[in-house]
Amino acid sequence: MLTFQQLISITQGREIQFVQPQPVIHLLTDSRKLSQPAGTVFFAIHGKYNDGHKYLPQLYSRGVRQFVVEKGSADELRQQYPEANIILVPDSLKALQQVAAWHRAQFQLPVIGITGSNGKTIVKEWLAQLLSPEELVVKSPRSYNSQLGVPLSVWQINPNHTLGIFEAGISQAGEMEQLQQIIRPTYGIFTNIGSAHDEGFVSREQKVAEKLKLFKDVELLFYCADQQLLHEAVQRQGIKSFTWARMQPADVTITATTTAGSKTIIFYTYQGEQQQLAIPFADEASVENALHCLAVLLYRQLPVAAIQERLGRLHPVAMRLEMKEAINGCYLIDDTYNNDLAGLSIALDLQANQPQHGQRTLILSDLLESGLPEKNLYLQVAELVQAHDVQRLIGIGPTISKYSHLFSASEEFYTSTSDFLKAFNPARFRNEVILVKGARVFAFEKIVQAFQQKVHGTVLEVNLDALLHNLNYYRAKLAPGTKLMVMVKAFAYGSGSFEVANLLQFHRVDYLAVAYADEGVLLREQGITLPVMVMNPSPDSFAKLQQYSLEPEIYALEQLQAFVLSLEAEATYKIHLKLDTGMHRLGFVREDFDTLFSLLQQYPQVQVVSAFSHLAGADEALHNDFSQQQIATFTSMAADVETRLGYSVTKHILNSAGIVRFPEHQLDMVRLGIGLYGVEATGAEQEALRPVSTLKTTVSQVKSIKQGDTIGYSRKGIADAAKTIATIAIGYADGYDRRFSNGVGHVLIDGQRCHVIGNVCMDMCMVDVTGLEVKAGDEVVVFGPQLTLLELAQSIGTIPYELLTNVSTRVKRVFYAE
Ligand SMILES: *Cc1c(COP(=O)(O)O)cnc(C)c1O
Repeated sequence: MLTFQQLISITQGREIQFVQPQPVIHLLTDSRKLSQPAGTVFFAIHGKYNDGHKYLPQLYSRGVRQFVVEKGSADELRQQYPEANIILVPDSLKALQQVAAWHRAQFQLPVIGITGSNGKTIVKEWLAQLLSPEELVVKSPRSYNSQLGVPLSVWQINPNHTLGIFEAGISQAGEMEQLQQIIRPTYGIFTNIGSAHDEGFVSREQKVAEKLKLFKDVELLFYCADQQLLHEAVQRQGIKSFTWARMQPADVTITATTTAGSKTIIFYTYQGEQQQLAIPFADEASVENALHCLAVLLYRQLPVAAIQERLGRLHPVAMRLEMKEAINGCYLIDDTYNNDLAGLSIALDLQANQPQHGQRTLILSDLLESGLPEKNLYLQVAELVQAHDVQRLIGIGPTISKYSHLFSASEEFYTSTSDFLKAFNPARFRNEVILVKGARVFAFEKIVQAFQQKVHGTVLEVNLDALLHNLNYYRAKLAPGTKLMVMVKAFAYGSGSFEVANLLQFHRVDYLAVAYADEGVLLREQGITLPVMVMNPSPDSFAKLQQYSLEPEIYALEQLQAFVLSLEAEATYKIHLKLDTGMHRLGFVREDFDTLFSLLQQYPQVQVVSAFSHLAGADEALHNDFSQQQIATFTSMAADVETRLGYSVTKHILNSAGIVRFPEHQLDMVRLGIGLYGVEATGAEQEALRPVSTLKTTVSQVKSIKQGDTIGYSRKGIADAAKTIATIAIGYADGYDRRFSNGVGHVLIDGQRCHVIGNVCMDMCMVDVTGLEVKAGDEVVVFGPQLTLLELAQSIGTIPYELLTNVSTRVKRVFYAE
């Protein structure tokens, strides 16, 4: 086993302090993911958005005693962490990579490295499944393929594994060499080369060359020889290969593929023999991914019958962890994707980040193929379960049942999924987050179904990773020390208040703001403890504000009067003063100041924590002078506020557009709104943000219409020729604006634009699908990354804010992390 002392020579770091010998068991880079302090080494990585060094005190107090740091004075480190072993290195990420590379070098096992623009994760998951009858496979969890993810993946190799499958992803030149040294693949798969991350490279050729560095020492590279750029580069470099192709000469020649329903039949020639196989997918990407796998299986000389049998059992790979609303106010994290320890740990992390619900329940099957001795495996599972504060464990399967004594959570065990379902009583699950995680053979989808609410087919999918990306994007613009308030009013711009608030709390923003007291109360009831400003508190809500420690915006004298009258004597109360500098909506003007401050003087228990104003035209350059004038007025009014109060307050004026356009006026805090949700209000930096929400519905019925027929209410839709139309399950009651009627709006079905025909109805509308293959049940995208809110808003003369916040609460929200 690796020891701390060895780390010094592996990383060539400087020993700052060595207190006692310790084993190196867990590599930690994210302080929130600590599960077992003993044996953990924390690598303090200084990233673009965050600095791991900030979390040293917290980790030390939680018992971590081994640190790799890249900055700090030796004396201070020793003083602050007297019991910790500490190494100083020039670059902590590099050090982590060196440790992983060292670990890899301890093993002789064959390793398949996978890179390419698309399909890496699916090919990896499928190959692991296809080869598992003979091999004990260790693989990257989910899509851990980055500079950080690869070392953590490789660290999982243990002596029982017989094959490693790891993916490598890069976004710029220079990165692959690092990953090659860590993975050291003996075989390679290059899935394909596309446009992803083009911006990080001078040319496509350079990108191919860079990616090929992963394979510099492989015995054999698998790829599709029809990929011309790739094919030429491989030949030029003389890498030994095993290819498949449709057009080029190759080891495996694909002579035809035909789809039959949801299957594809593949005809191929290998070693002079004609064969055919069926795979249970019809889309092109899946066929390509399956062909990569087929090439590997043929090379390994698996009999055709075995190949056929195994390919037939492939499942689609869920690329993301989804959190869905379920019965009795529960949320369900459906993760039947990775059935290994690393996957369990990732899913438990997501669950642990959802503190709004009372209880955490884990439904877990036997873990198959871990490569660890059983007892040891379930000890580790028990450790993870405990570290993530799971309150109820439901174990399903003979093996996990056998080790029931290792678990201390409230627990129950069943030998099979059907035993669990027989005993299933929905009333026992209420307001909790339930993680469902089981190996395929346990068919946990039946459990997921039992928990799922029945709702109509319209959902708003909220991408939590995109939210985080956008948050970090704005954060990176802030000067050190500038605080961040995030607006979660109007159900977090339609995206679901507490799920969003929760993510923001987890990622440590400073403040939240809502419009009404009730919204704040809801957040508190669901476990949000951040300070919350309420922008429009009505007098009848003042008692509630105090009860739930919500902080009112005070914008008028009468309102302040009513507020102070409602106060209980002893406590102190925080308020925010809104100043009107030209928006002319809410706020005090200078003429109010005498009365305002004499009133405040009488109530010293009322503490003004911030003074703020709002820009009327921050998004448009047209209003630059006006904005500058507002900022100047605000600065002077706020100075007056501070003088009269005799203490300083937090000053803030910028909204999302302001953060982009007036970076020099961040003052003490900024208020982020629409930008978090993926819309860059000035338009100048839209590319840098990621779309957060996708509104989806389904096709209810498809029909043929004769020329001259009319469609829908008031017979507004007129078929100028014979048409095929689809009725889709969304209407103005769901938030699909009636102004989209009669050809103004369009939706995407299978990526194709289909225009609205006739008037939008309350719960449905009709779209023109003439010439397309559309059937009932097909998915319809109303807005999303391929059909932007901005475009839709412009087509009906409104703004993205309105479309987002109009999505009705009857539309189910599904939250996911990629
Ligand atoms: C809604 C709101 C914001 C956020 O505005 P965006 O344009 O969404 O960034 C900021 N300040 C106040 C007072 C608001 O009401």
